[in-house]
Amino acid sequence: MDVRDGFIGSIGETPLIRLEGPSRATGCDILGKAEFLNPGGSVKDRAAIAIVRDAERRGALRPGGVIVEGTAGNTGIGLALVGNALGYRTVIVMPETQSQEKKDMLRLVGADLRLVPALPYKDPGNYVRYSETLAAELAATEPNGVIWANQFDNTANREGHKATTGQEIWRQTGGAVDAFTCAVGTGGTLAGVGMALKEMNPDIRIALADPMGSALYNHYAHGELKAEGNSITEGIGQGRITANLEGAPIDDWHRVTDEEALPLLFDLLKNEGLCLGGSSGINVAAAMKVARDLGPGHTVVTILCDFGTRYQSKLFNPTFLRQKNLPVPSWLDS
Ligand code: PMP
Repeated sequence: MDVRDGFIGSIGETPLIRLEGPSRATGCDILGKAEFLNPGGSVKDRAAIAIVRDAERRGALRPGGVIVEGTAGNTGIGLALVGNALGYRTVIVMPETQSQEKKDMLRLVGADLRLVPALPYKDPGNYVRYSETLAAELAATEPNGVIWANQFDNTANREGHKATTGQEIWRQTGGAVDAFTCAVGTGGTLAGVGMALKEMNPDIRIALADPMGSALYNHYAHGELKAEGNSITEGIGQGRITANLEGAPIDDWHRVTDEEALPLLFDLLKNEGLCLGGSSGINVAAAMKVARDLGPGHTVVTILCDFGTRYQSKLFNPTFLRQKNLPVPSWLDS
């Protein structure tokens, strides 16, 4: 029998998909790790299970305990589903600006959802900062333990990617991988995969894919954490060096605009049948930049983080896109 054990056993071991258009355009193999096929629908299932297992090992979480987290949505969905499967309650704090689809999904799966205004990290009302305060408050009354998952600064996140995503990419390519790139939310994926691949072969290039509105490109390129412009993508972009990013082996950095990423996303859907979210568009655009820098014949791996359906009201909404002066999918443009 080839059977996986429930939700938890179904996380990971995702396929690596050759992206035909981007590969043809660059003369390289552009491969996307199909993280949208995780059972919670995103790459963040991996961080969720890694963080929960780490808390269990430390004795911080006992049956019936509570998981509290601040999230752009996907980590919350992953944590809530892991919680359902393992018997923990989840309390999720999310900025109200995130997509309606993710809010609906969080309520659907039974998370206790607390929406807060989108405030900068330095403000105590920021979703991450507030989730920490809330976890401390709940800890006073919960007998079975409360954890603040703290995905940004809890390095169990990147350790999970190092132990799973990175190993899978190495195995699936038979070691024939020249570069890896992805965008950063917490940095868990980029750092964890980067560290795993560098251990296998230090010559593999690790590249940051940075959307507009994120401060990381300027940090790595010019030593200054400075954000410029903005992006409609969700779950990526960062204004500080998180503990997960600390010491990450990053060789190159590419800035990607929504104007570059969206047409690729629309082509992947219409020409290749892959319906992906915005961060996947940023990642594929960056993978093509990395491929063009390396020249034809190389293999570049990136992450296909989640499904486009999670952002239908934005990414695939002509009215929204026109308001933002962004490209509109040709088949929806009537
Ligand atoms: N893409 C999406 C859609 C996400 O939700 C996230 C996580 N917030 C990322 C990419 C970034 O992943 P990481 O947190 O590992 O940097």
